[in-house]
Amino acid sequence: MASQVTVYLGLGSNMGDRAGNLKKALELLSQRMEVGEISSVYETEPVGVGEQPRYLNMVCRVTTGLTPQGLLLVAKGIEQRMGRTGNSFLPRPIDIDILLYGGQVIETPDLTVPHPRMTERAFVLAPFAEIAPGQAHPKSGKTIKELLGGLGEVKGVFKVGRIESLTKQAKK
Ligand code: ADP
Ligand code: MG
Repeated sequence: MASQVTVYLGLGSNMGDRAGNLKKALELLSQRMEVGEISSVYETEPVGVGEQPRYLNMVCRVTTGLTPQGLLLVAKGIEQRMGRTGNSFLPRPIDIDILLYGGQVIETPDLTVPHPRMTERAFVLAPFAEIAPGQAHPKSGKTIKELLGGLGEVKGVFKVGRIESLTKQAKK
């Protein structure tokens, strides 16, 4: 068996049944890797993509024997299977970002890890700090909690609850 790596993924949805989409993505991911701790779901104002509906965001820890490229392919496959068509400037049913892959720093044309914009995004750092506050960011050496604190006052990021209860409500 290939050695297992701890990975953090960021999930986002701002189209259709957003909570249902997050749940579906977690299910599809769990068919390919072990999904560990998951954060609460946060409703967040879109950042840097113009006028768009609000996102639901969350972060999860997974354990996988997949290589970084293999994991990226799986993530893109799930995005496509769930109906993602446009680019990052259009609303999307699901966005899956590789935030950290072990302690590795990866810089290839189609994959940059740690995710290059995670350190400035409260919608990533707030859920991330919930499940792994002491996790070090391999490039800055700071912890997730320190990075979040460094952003100052967090605006436009609201904790809305656990995915299980959000998707239960949606079905009633
Ligand atoms: P964003 O997630 O910043 O809104 P997109 O999801 O539209 O942007 O970006 C998709 C592209 O980003 C993918 O084609 C992928 O190759 C590239 N990419 C680079 N680094 C990563 C990463 N760490 N996680 C996910 N995608 C990445
Ligand atoms: Mg993405």
